[in-house]
Amino acid sequence: MTTDSILDLPVENSFARLPEAFYARVQPHPLTAPRLLHANARVAALLGLSEDALGRQDFLDVCAGNRPLTGGRTVAAVYSGHQFGVWAGRLGDGRAHLLGEIATPSGPWEIQLKGSGHTPYSRMADGRAVLRSCVREYLASEAMAGLGIPTTRALALVVSDDPVYRETVETAAILARVSPSFVRFGSFEHWWNDAENMRALLDYVVGHFYPRCGRGDDGGVLSTPDTALRLLDAVVLRTAELIAAWMTVGFCHGVMNTDNMSILGLTLDYGPYGFMDGFRADHVCNHSDTQGRYAWNMQPAVAGWNLYRLADALMVLGLDADALKARLNAFEPAFLRAYQARMAAKLGLGAWLPADQALIDGWWRLLHEARADFTLSFRRLARVEDDAEPFLSLFGDRAPALEWLEKYRRRLEADPRPSDERAARMDRVNPLYVLRNHLAELAIRGAHLGDVSEINTLLMLLRDPYTERDGYGDYAAPAPAWAGGLEVSCSS
Ligand code: AMP
Ligand code: MG
Repeated sequence: MTTDSILDLPVENSFARLPEAFYARVQPHPLTAPRLLHANARVAALLGLSEDALGRQDFLDVCAGNRPLTGGRTVAAVYSGHQFGVWAGRLGDGRAHLLGEIATPSGPWEIQLKGSGHTPYSRMADGRAVLRSCVREYLASEAMAGLGIPTTRALALVVSDDPVYRETVETAAILARVSPSFVRFGSFEHWWNDAENMRALLDYVVGHFYPRCGRGDDGGVLSTPDTALRLLDAVVLRTAELIAAWMTVGFCHGVMNTDNMSILGLTLDYGPYGFMDGFRADHVCNHSDTQGRYAWNMQPAVAGWNLYRLADALMVLGLDADALKARLNAFEPAFLRAYQARMAAKLGLGAWLPADQALIDGWWRLLHEARADFTLSFRRLARVEDDAEPFLSLFGDRAPALEWLEKYRRRLEADPRPSDERAARMDRVNPLYVLRNHLAELAIRGAHLGDVSEINTLLMLLRDPYTERDGYGDYAAPAPAWAGGLEVSCSS
């Protein structure tokens, strides 16, 4: 069942029914002469919107922030957080407006605009988002969904000629995005000193998204501290699985501040993220991250640190510190379990054996020393039993690659299966197409000219990144020389 107008969607406002202290009721600030650059029919379908609905003026009006949802209560949410390891105090939606929540068969989807103008939480900033960063989030969130990695989704991209001042003058855009919830670790941290509001937030999050955490094993309703501990268990697990997924596709988030950590374990707030080209274990994608705090190989530890900040905040509910610590200690084994299962599958192994740790350490060392392409190394490994040449060509010095392959072949002997069957399984977990920086850049250049053909091509490939398609070899290739100087920073 679909509807032909976004104004006919059934809207609820669960978040906006929390106490007033959780948000500010403020309207978006319109862009001048907004235009719909792209709409995502897949996400629209999730909301129950027909393709026709996307071509209507009311769809643009809503996504541009010029019209509220029917029955929607537009708000900007408050949150706090730790940025780069330091308590930043109050942050909040400084350039985002939550329009309301659509109840659908796939659960609730909140619609939020990003770049829709200043709010009481903007501090000194302008409340805007630039086209470049909106295109990057639009593509990356669909790429993540295509990889099967939990993420917020993008509904539409609205552009204008309004100038926005960053390192240079750029133009303003609005990204309409959806998620079951945009609540962050930082939303909890905000109430570290206020048990009443903490309890209200806990009830809201558990009631809507983690109902099992609110019930005891006997089905009875749990007391608040027990509910909080169960929620922490669940968030620890989801976060561990998310980070394992990121690590094994070479994704660096870039700004893993606690205000960018979803309480639902989704990839949230795409900024200076990167899918690695040549592998470096300590790769830093965010050019503003001079200390390398959010390097690829730091992400698991940072996630663990962020969970500590969440747990710290929950202390206001009178939780026992030892009980919290025991919960947090589950992060590392949960991460390792998820990571090892993914790595075993990526290497074509039926199961992870303890001795595989050495094989995988050797794998990362091999890739790191050669700066070998992350995505292609895995993808081509699937064919080494038939022809090792395409794989070996990724390494300047072949001797260490041959040495590692020898160990790998020995390991495969303990897991015999037809090579084509193994290759087919590996191809289902090792993507061929990822959103390399230079591909996003080409789509951005097109978008500036109103040309969405690159966006369309990338969406087509990234929605099913495991299937090779004829004629798209360039999209699977490592970055060309011109892309060497591309940099992404926090300014978005
Ligand atoms: P971010 O690093 O993008 O996750 O943002 C951190 C905080 O800064 C959040 O509170 C954002 O809402 C706010 N913020 C980022 N950019 C802007 C902007 N251009 N205008 C207003 N607030 C912003
Ligand atoms: Mg953020």
